[in-house]
Amino acid sequence: MGLPIELTYLAASILFILGLKGLSHPETARRGMIFAEIGMFLAIVGTLLHREIVSYEWIIAGLIIGSLIGGAISIWVPMTAMPQRTALSHAFGALAASLVGVSEYYRHGAGELGTFKMTALSLEVLLGGITVTGSLMAFIKLQDWIRGTPITYRGQNVFNMSLLAITVGMFAYLIFDPSAHSLFYAMAGLAFVFGVLLVLPIGAADMPVVMSLMNSYAGLAAAATGFAISNNVLIIAGTLDGFSGFILSILMCRAMNRSITNVLFGAFGAETASGESASLGDMREVKADDIAVQLAYAGQVVFVPGYGMATAQAQHAVRELANILEARGVTVKYAIHPVAGRMPGHMNVLLAEANVPYSSLYDLEQINGEFPATDVAVVIGANDVVNPDARDNPKSAIAGMPILEVDKAHSVVVLKRGKGKGFAGIENPLFFKPNCGMLYGDAKASLIKLAGAVQNA
Ligand code: NAP
Repeated sequence: MGLPIELTYLAASILFILGLKGLSHPETARRGMIFAEIGMFLAIVGTLLHREIVSYEWIIAGLIIGSLIGGAISIWVPMTAMPQRTALSHAFGALAASLVGVSEYYRHGAGELGTFKMTALSLEVLLGGITVTGSLMAFIKLQDWIRGTPITYRGQNVFNMSLLAITVGMFAYLIFDPSAHSLFYAMAGLAFVFGVLLVLPIGAADMPVVMSLMNSYAGLAAAATGFAISNNVLIIAGTLDGFSGFILSILMCRAMNRSITNVLFGAFGAETASGESASLGDMREVKADDIAVQLAYAGQVVFVPGYGMATAQAQHAVRELANILEARGVTVKYAIHPVAGRMPGHMNVLLAEANVPYSSLYDLEQINGEFPATDVAVVIGANDVVNPDARDNPKSAIAGMPILEVDKAHSVVVLKRGKGKGFAGIENPLFFKPNCGMLYGDAKASLIKLAGAVQNA
């Protein structure tokens, strides 16, 4: 490979790293994305101008089709369907890696493939295949095309592990004997089947963890492609992608106080978990007008958004209520739990869409100490992330998960439609506490009602 192309790849790799660094904070995220986009542009143009390209027709056709699909997805898929969108793009990326792997194997013939190249090719096809069907399954579950709850049967984990062991066995054999053509294609087929079986027993709400794992596999498949076709930028970008996805999966699991194996094999959410607090008493329903008076004369109000804010698309209504309160001199803060909603940064993305300033967003560590000095905590469609059982009941299914301690505020109001449970499927003792009132209804409608009532207060 020539020096100019290597320098282009080096520049692209540096831009990818700067992009990742930028993405670590909301204020620098846009700049990070621009760095990453320029990096990708350089990598693609550099590769296309490189003399190894023999024909541009198919590449141009692929570029046009890909750009049309990408453009359509970015215009028409709403923010709330971001997890599905991410799942689809992982599936496409992994399909590309798998196809390159299969075509390289077909093109070279087993005789020319040494141990190193065969290992890279097999890894690429194995990880790529699992990611394609695993991501598509995640998409189907999130889109509610099949039921989102875990689909389980007796002996499932043993069956899946045996299938994986057979596939890995084929992988190992192929390294020593690349000429076993049918074994190579059988391994590719089994990888696709395993992707489906891996995701079936995982609940829809655990899909963000699955997807960041799939992101990791797709990245590693791309890195393996880089080794297989001797392309340095693919190796670097794939490795960055692979490890950042893996780190994100671990961080998400930590924020839920669960292990990766529990997410992958625990069928979480399949049935109501045990260890709930018994006979909690009655929930106290409150009226919008009464809450409005409390809000209007409060010193500090903390909004606590959760998954229900996303389903209700209530982010703009929250901002409008906050504006009205701030105009009256009330201090308004937003408490953001790392796993509120259904994907990392879910609440940040929605609130940013409604132009809520970053400086008003507080994470767990920053805000928990402030609840005792908060007049009203307004819980907007959040449940598990404010469940005091996680802190107080060691037998709870979510015991040990860090929570937003809204129960310590002077007064708490919970906006939800009814008595529906959260993702963990367990009761929430917060709703039965004497300082907590329930305002039933769709979160957006309730917030609009509250805004009107505060203006009249
Ligand atoms: P949650 O525990 O899932 O609770 C959401 C609540 O919103 C429900 O109790 C529901 O009650 C209410 N709701 C739904 N639609 C509503 C609407 N239109 N208007 C008003 N309320 C509505 O949500 P969370 O507190 O945000 O917790 C997130 C959960 O997801 C955690 O258990 C977390 O571990 C898990 N999880 C998150 C991620 C991530 O990356 N963020 C990843 C994997 C798992 P009603 O039905 O009564 O309305």
